[in-house]
Amino acid sequence: MSNEPVVVHALINGRQLVTEKRYGRENPANPSEIVGYGPVNTREDAVLAIDAAAAAFPAWAATPIDERIQRMQRAIEKLKAAAPELTELLSREHGKPLYDAQGEIVVSTMWMEYACSRVKDVIQDEVQEHDHGRTIISHDPMGVVTAIFPWNYPISLSTIKIAPAVLTGNTMVLKPSPYAPLAVSKAIELIAAEFPPGVINMVHGEADVGVELTSNPKIAKIAFTGGTNTAKHIMKSAADTIKHLTLELGGNDAAIFLPEFDVNDERAMRRLVISNFLNGGQICMIAKRVYVHRSIYDKFVEKYIEAANKWIRVGSPFNPEVTIGPVNNAAQLKYVKELIEDAKSRGAKVIPLGRVLEPELFEQGYFMQPTLVLDVDSNAPIVAEEQFGPAVPIMPYDDEEQVISLVNNSIYGLTSSVWGEEEHAVRVARRIEAGTTMINTAAIMGLDVRFPFGGVKQSGVGREYGIDGLLAYVEKHVINVPIFLDLPYIPE
Ligand code: NAD
Repeated sequence: MSNEPVVVHALINGRQLVTEKRYGRENPANPSEIVGYGPVNTREDAVLAIDAAAAAFPAWAATPIDERIQRMQRAIEKLKAAAPELTELLSREHGKPLYDAQGEIVVSTMWMEYACSRVKDVIQDEVQEHDHGRTIISHDPMGVVTAIFPWNYPISLSTIKIAPAVLTGNTMVLKPSPYAPLAVSKAIELIAAEFPPGVINMVHGEADVGVELTSNPKIAKIAFTGGTNTAKHIMKSAADTIKHLTLELGGNDAAIFLPEFDVNDERAMRRLVISNFLNGGQICMIAKRVYVHRSIYDKFVEKYIEAANKWIRVGSPFNPEVTIGPVNNAAQLKYVKELIEDAKSRGAKVIPLGRVLEPELFEQGYFMQPTLVLDVDSNAPIVAEEQFGPAVPIMPYDDEEQVISLVNNSIYGLTSSVWGEEEHAVRVARRIEAGTTMINTAAIMGLDVRFPFGGVKQSGVGREYGIDGLLAYVEKHVINVPIFLDLPYIPE
């Protein structure tokens, strides 16, 4: 592995835009090492990218669907071939262990392949002959789509937007997060190369570039994944020109353990630990608060600690023994530590989990030992807010009504999980306010790209994945050819 810093650029109309100003992205396992540099793009650069996408739109929208699919299939092959190089770079700039970076490419290509296999059915004309004549419903692309995504799964969360947007005939401008800009920029470049210039463009930057990408009148739709507060700015920015929005936002996902759950089920306990700590807990859909029926609580905590101590091994993302790397950035690390300190000050019990494999590295990077929080009140921020890091509270509850009310008493509603006898769990699941509820598993282990994914309440608007994830990028255009051309009740 070469440690030479990687340099990425904006991509406009098929060409790299090389800028003088750039920012460095550090290695979270060793912050003195710069993994690479991204450009500091300006609003003017964003306008150039939007103009390129707008100019490319008419020809791309008119390109036959078979050609669009073939190009996407070539892009998928390129992504697969580049996986070793991309995943190594992603692990270095992000801090996630190599297996998780590899998983990101697997999920990305699985979804891109699914989108290729279903897009023709989804966008073909619906034609109906009926007693009033004939109706044709066509599915037209929207125009230029802005895609903004966060740092936690940059490749999955960009391709989740690229595949449906481009296959349905839209053009795009993408913006990565400065906390993991490198591997995804390489991935976007190699995907974009399979399409005509201007179909896929990319700029980097922060809020000023974001404002242009969300307010420019040439943008028809915004597909955003990130925090709920950022989404509020984006909605306001999009309001003046009434843009379409898909918003995939924060979550505070609950896991409910019913009284019949078998605390001796080691595989289930392992699944829960992974559901709490995969990617260091930095996943929108991770189980962020755990409610356990009081009748099994004490034994549950004992077995949970055993399972966590077995699975959690903290260290370098490149050590094959390691399951959890550093936190992605200093601000996130500080925030999670503050939540734990706050819980302690409220009298909570705090238990470090797992093993630190490389103590020296641990000291130099943004590492933190995964932490279990017990005896904590529902109002404590570690329970009430999204921690997005390696800490989890486990709390007892007394009855179903109480736990459902605790779970639903949140501004969020992304995913959730219920663990116990299947039918009982399904009955409880129906009462939870969430976009997805998983039974006897949680987080990405219960994810299926063939079905719609998204949040209710302040966890989002719209759905990605599944057929809905394709339909989110088209307008239904109804062409009516009626037999009765006049209405009888309107006077002559
Ligand atoms: P963030 O909201 O800070 O940033 C997300 C993206 O928005 C970044 O690219 C950022 O540069 C950009 N941005 C910032 N200000 C902007 C503005 N004013 N206009 C336009 N763009 C702007 O989020 P983050 O810290 O990168 O990611 C963590 C959050 O993302 C968590 O809340 C997590 O739950 C959420 N998330 C949700 C999902 C989902 O599918 N629901 C998936 C992953 C992450």
